[in-house]
Amino acid sequence: MSLNEFKLIEHFFKNLTHARSDVLLGIGDDCAILDPAFDLNLAVTTDTLIPNVHFPTHTLPYDIGYKSLAVNLSDLAAMGAEPSWFTLALTLPDLDIPWLEKFCEGLSDLASPHKLQLIGGDLTRGTLSISITAFGYVKKNLFLKRSTANIGDLIYVTHTIGDAAAGLFILKNNIQCNDSLKSHFLKALNRPQPQIDLGLKLATIASSAIDISDGLAADLTHILEGSNVGAEICVDQLPLSTELCKTFTKEEAVKFALTGGDDYELCFTISPDKKEMMENFPVTCIGKIVPTKGLVLFDQNGNLYQKSTGGYRHF
Ligand code: ADP
Ligand code: MG
Repeated sequence: MSLNEFKLIEHFFKNLTHARSDVLLGIGDDCAILDPAFDLNLAVTTDTLIPNVHFPTHTLPYDIGYKSLAVNLSDLAAMGAEPSWFTLALTLPDLDIPWLEKFCEGLSDLASPHKLQLIGGDLTRGTLSISITAFGYVKKNLFLKRSTANIGDLIYVTHTIGDAAAGLFILKNNIQCNDSLKSHFLKALNRPQPQIDLGLKLATIASSAIDISDGLAADLTHILEGSNVGAEICVDQLPLSTELCKTFTKEEAVKFALTGGDDYELCFTISPDKKEMMENFPVTCIGKIVPTKGLVLFDQNGNLYQKSTGGYRHF
């Protein structure tokens, strides 16, 4: 690495985030050295983002930075983990200092409320790609898995789903809608909010969990397959934002919620005797786990709902 590159890393990354006491050596040497709490377990996750696949080409650098970290934190949230450190492997087509400044601002704005420290990474020239590995703590043997849903459990979703997919649809098809609606949908797409606090609370309550990155239908199916069970969902109970219902038909809104992806909300299951515990949580019960494999969708009248339910597939 040239001196120039080293200065670049010092300038942009070395002091970008909070300094944690469990980091003995951060950016600057061949490795970071960590001193993890001995009485906790570690959760580790990696996600790579590339233009046109994970974000539209013209996404602002601030949003790219924010979202790159958010999708990783969302995986930690789904395990009930508390984020601690992350590394960043960044491939840039050229050295665009204003772009890098904004990218770092987006990263740091999400890292700081979570007291996350950037502990290392890599910088190379090539087609734009952002690869983050994030680490978090879970209490010993207390983490949320996909494979532990039980027959009879209730299925929940946090907040609302479908808005990010609507944002992408609006961008791709150049749909005209008023500025405040448009900014609502684009914010959902570009600045997903990883549900860390809810994940931590659910760690002792839920029987299984996943974050919704590829659409509810596809992600819930991971829980069902992992747990060897099926589910019945009522599409009329899906939590849809007022903005979504105002802008799209019911059928379109349901399609965004089921198949759109990019929500980064949590889908989780709980034993029905824990239902009261959900009263003060921003969550909605959408169905239940059943013995018959597969995902079955009903409407509020108990009729089968048969529309496309595929999720985003990379291959
Ligand atoms: P090496 O030559 O050992 O591969 P580098 O010269 O690539 O290491 O990196 C020097 C230091 O800067 C290391 O501590 C590395 O973790 C850190 N670093 C490099 N790129 C980044 C980045 N994009 N973000 C954070 N830290 C980085
Ligand atoms: Mg080295």
